[in-house]
Amino acid sequence: MNPQRLLACLLLLSGLALAQHPQPKKPAKAAPVTRPKADSALAIHQSALIVDTHADTPQRFLDENFDLGQNTPIAEGHIDLGKIKQGNLGAEFFSIWVEPEFKGHYARRAMDLIDSVYQQAARHPDKITMAFTADDILHAREQHKFAALMGIEGGHAIENDIRLLRDFYRMGVRYMTLTWSNTNEWADSSGDIQDPNVKHHNGMTDFGKDVVREMNRLGMIVDISHVSDATFYQALLISQAPVIASHSSARELTNQPRNMTDDMLRAMTNNGGVVMVNFYSAFIDENYRKASSDPEKIKQRDAEVEAFKKAHAHPDGSAVTYDEYAPIEKKWAAQFPRPPLKSLIDHIDHIAKVAGIDHVGLGSDFDGVTSLPEGIDSAADLPKITQALLQRGYTREQIHKILGGNFLRVMHEVEATAKRLQAEHKASDALSFEEIELMVGNRVSTEQLIGRINEHGVSFDLTAERRARLKEQGIEDAALETIARARRR
Ligand SMILES: [Zn+2]
Repeated sequence: MNPQRLLACLLLLSGLALAQHPQPKKPAKAAPVTRPKADSALAIHQSALIVDTHADTPQRFLDENFDLGQNTPIAEGHIDLGKIKQGNLGAEFFSIWVEPEFKGHYARRAMDLIDSVYQQAARHPDKITMAFTADDILHAREQHKFAALMGIEGGHAIENDIRLLRDFYRMGVRYMTLTWSNTNEWADSSGDIQDPNVKHHNGMTDFGKDVVREMNRLGMIVDISHVSDATFYQALLISQAPVIASHSSARELTNQPRNMTDDMLRAMTNNGGVVMVNFYSAFIDENYRKASSDPEKIKQRDAEVEAFKKAHAHPDGSAVTYDEYAPIEKKWAAQFPRPPLKSLIDHIDHIAKVAGIDHVGLGSDFDGVTSLPEGIDSAADLPKITQALLQRGYTREQIHKILGGNFLRVMHEVEATAKRLQAEHKASDALSFEEIELMVGNRVSTEQLIGRINEHGVSFDLTAERRARLKEQGIEDAALETIARARRR
């Protein structure tokens, strides 16, 4: 039976049924409802699996000995177990952010921060669980536990060593922001792209591109928040998996170089990635951004911070941390009126319209920013976002995508890509640039080297930069030419 006839038939039958059994008249007044209606903002919020991809709380764990079990005043912190429960926050990516002042000790500082996250989970095993996969996040929810995950913010943490990148993955880190506000030795940042004193790379170096490839192979999500526009487009060209912006907003609405242009948003659609909206007032509200970027006022703030650092210098010479001087920055930020919640919702709305509803999420930057829009004082206020989205006409299904569904899809895809790449790599067994570099460094004979290259092929392009690096290490021309001619797998 064709569908139209089936429908007509069903309508007829139901009409007959109604005629034979007249329905009792509905009471004029509905009985009082105690449970929230299925489509109420609260019910939509409570039934969502909410994932936030950026919070800087680990510095508080480590430097202030802060425990998530402590309910802190909102002036002091945006996240604790009470606020997590109130906001129905299901999973948080805790940021492993190493201040560039820790030069010489980046990896050590990163590992201390990683340990601080594990320590929180160990102290509250009934409420917090470490999570490493998208399915782990789903399982945590089934067990009514909060899922703690980790992302490295700033590629300088790997100290230009692909082995450290792999070690961080083994420790449980599941995304890495290629740069923070500082350009590192292999990728340009939006934070200093105008600074002529910084050595830039026109995006990424060959090593930087290898980092992206290795992240794909490991299953570590490539995060393009903070990077320069050139780094962004190169990362998208190279990455075989969807990428994320863990905490970035829309430049069309708030003209911040760290925010994403509409063209970048459309590129994210093609990539299949997701842009997690940053809540920071200066990234979501043009008035706030303008007021707070007054050079005179910034000068005065920076001078106060410098004076504080001098007065509170650590006897062992270690860097004064952000958490120590954050109160000065918070006080400074409070002189500018907070933007309305509408500004934040406008960014979610804009990204949903330009990139698409499947490509937007939440990356609060809680505990890392000095000002949030009105009404959002902490993670406890997340339901207000759901309410505002509902008022703008977003459906339950769309809101659930924004609150976490989109991110979980991307995480699943990144995991599947890694599985595929690992299987391919195993099958081809092609030599990576690092493997060749290691053999040259270990003075493997040219004859042996050529034999291995001919047997396995190579997994990389021999660029001028790589040629120079191998030459520096003493490779012979015959071996170089074999690489250039080798099967590229
Ligand atoms: Zn950041």
